[in-house]
Amino acid sequence: NRQTTYNFNAGPSALPTVVLERAQEQLVNFEGNGMSIMEMSHRGKVYEAVHNAAIERLRKLYNIPADYDVLFLQGGASLQFSMIPMNFLAEGEKAGYIMTGSWSEKACKEATAEGATYEVASSKADNYNYIPTTFDVQEGTRYVHMTTNNTIFGTQFKSFPTFDVPLIADMSSDIMSKPIDVTNFDMIYAGAQKNLGPSGVTVVIIKKDFLATAKAENPTVLKYETHAKNNSLYHTPPTFGIYMLGEILKWIEEQGGLTAIDQQNKDKAALIYDVIDTSEGFYVGHATKESRSLMNITFRLQDEALEKQFLTEAAEAGFVGLNGHRSVGGCRASTYNAVPVAACQALADFMKAFMKKHN
Ligand code: PMP
Repeated sequence: NRQTTYNFNAGPSALPTVVLERAQEQLVNFEGNGMSIMEMSHRGKVYEAVHNAAIERLRKLYNIPADYDVLFLQGGASLQFSMIPMNFLAEGEKAGYIMTGSWSEKACKEATAEGATYEVASSKADNYNYIPTTFDVQEGTRYVHMTTNNTIFGTQFKSFPTFDVPLIADMSSDIMSKPIDVTNFDMIYAGAQKNLGPSGVTVVIIKKDFLATAKAENPTVLKYETHAKNNSLYHTPPTFGIYMLGEILKWIEEQGGLTAIDQQNKDKAALIYDVIDTSEGFYVGHATKESRSLMNITFRLQDEALEKQFLTEAAEAGFVGLNGHRSVGGCRASTYNAVPVAACQALADFMKAFMKKHN
């Protein structure tokens, strides 16, 4: 059952139980309207209020200035990998990519299909185990793209670089996990399915001035302008996902906002990193200490047999999602906003007990 299942999935991932329970309560008869939110017109008053409240909550939590648009799109973060260069990379221009993991690589690959790209920095030579601190932005760069948290390798930018060209950030795996200065970026985007709700919604926060510089010759739905002009209601939005996103944001407010969430995330990650750090090499973290993520904790054991044993015993004890990504192996605990402190404490205790037994 839910009480004895510790969900460390990388995404889709744990949602706050109370949010699911509230959604369940409202599921069949939403606010007394005789139907679910999924069964209503996206042009009706009831849905419109839900839609606008979600946008307002996002604006408030992130302190988003009026000269930025907040959009709800579809196609996941992966479609943004293409939409960004389609809208902002014209012939004869080039875009710089900060390479910090598989998702940066995928983003860069899609841009390279649209135009010229180059690497502003890369930690690939060290299997992406750190966040670069020196950047080489070439003259005439249209935009720089970065991935703020590297879901697979478990590294995270602790502060953001600033350049004199537009900066675009994929925040899929650490959006709304801490307070940030939105104005450091011309565009932020994220798939919702880690910190913001179920999959199916992509959040885009984009500076109006920057949006205005987009190319005109794209298909209607692939232009940011289309969605900005129509309050993300140009076509049918993922209404249930947006409702859930709004409920998650309300829950973040109830936790005390992003400062409180940030502290909680730090405390949660510390429980697990402390076990790794004091294990005398029994557990080995993938990321360097300065670069390690508060969202995805990646580690290995001394050999594959022991790792397999760890994952087997962990599964028996109710831990879910601890397998590392298929591309890097090892173990990964994803400790997004909604993962309770108690689950992290349980994992830390389990790791200590496993070490004692097998050391
Ligand atoms: N960027 C990052 C950092 C991610 O973690 C993911 C998904 N795990 C993606 C992009 C791709 O997102 P989507 O599946 O929504 O396309």
